[in-house]
Amino acid sequence: MVYVGVDVGATFIRVGLVDDGGNVVDKLKVRQPTSGDENTVAEVIIKAIKDLTRSRSIDGIGIGSIGPLDLRRGIVPLAPNAPIKRFKLVEPIIREFGVTVVLGNDAMAAAWGEYLFGIGRGVNNLVYITFSTGIGAGVIVDGHLLVGKDGNAHEIGHAVINVDSDIKCGCGGYGHWEALGSGANVPKVIRAFIRNRTYRSKLYERLMRNEDVTTEEVFQAYYEGDELARDFIDNFLMKIHAAGIATVMNAYDPELIVLGGSMALNHRELFRRGIEKYLGMYLAVNPARIEFTRFGDDVGIIGAAALVYKIPDSLRRFVDGYISTYLKK
Ligand SMILES: [Zn+2]
Repeated sequence: MVYVGVDVGATFIRVGLVDDGGNVVDKLKVRQPTSGDENTVAEVIIKAIKDLTRSRSIDGIGIGSIGPLDLRRGIVPLAPNAPIKRFKLVEPIIREFGVTVVLGNDAMAAAWGEYLFGIGRGVNNLVYITFSTGIGAGVIVDGHLLVGKDGNAHEIGHAVINVDSDIKCGCGGYGHWEALGSGANVPKVIRAFIRNRTYRSKLYERLMRNEDVTTEEVFQAYYEGDELARDFIDNFLMKIHAAGIATVMNAYDPELIVLGGSMALNHRELFRRGIEKYLGMYLAVNPARIEFTRFGDDVGIIGAAALVYKIPDSLRRFVDGYISTYLKK
């Protein structure tokens, strides 16, 4: 059996063929279209799947997408981080290929992938958290994948971490974990951080000259010993992440938290140390074990394929809906 896993990110769409052992057999990566209508993203995905499978037959397609989602309609109604904000996923794809299509949030898919094939195999209480453009989570409690009414039961990236913050999140809210700590927001947050502070620091001088600074440059400056980067990451950013992770532990009481996403995977030691330093300040329950995903960039593809390899009970009603609405006519 071969499944297609589609990982719809804010910048890239990754498509892979995954076997029933959770191994990626073949894969490709395309850019998110930057303009178009609500069908454009699906058209790009359909072409990528065709390029990848050629004439091979497939047993199902799993999609893990940036959210928030409207699972019943199989669409992304308003993605704060994507160039095209509203797009269809399930309908055009299921009509094109005529196989079972399962849609979930990207982090939800990754959690299911870790549970079936990865580091969380058999761990019935597990949360996957991704740290990249945004911050997202997938949550399994008692072996049950949390979904919610529209598919957004785990949008913990929008947990309020600081009620006094005037930094606006992509979703429109204030003080959200994602607004204060995601990869896309670090350059904005560090500007707010230096208000009323001074540093002997190259990074500080660049910011004061209003130069553009990327998230990776902030981390680079950290490793070079830059005073501002050190203070910001050690004493602010990691505190934000520890508070977010503690919130996840307090809410779901997991045995295991799996961390993924480029920001966490590229800076494991910083995350490990920062979380260890601050977690206890915010924790109400016994802490969970924290590990990093071993799937790297493939976690989204493997997770998406896992959704269709073994359809979670909580997604079944949506999947049945797609089949009866789009295929049986
Ligand atoms: Zn938000």
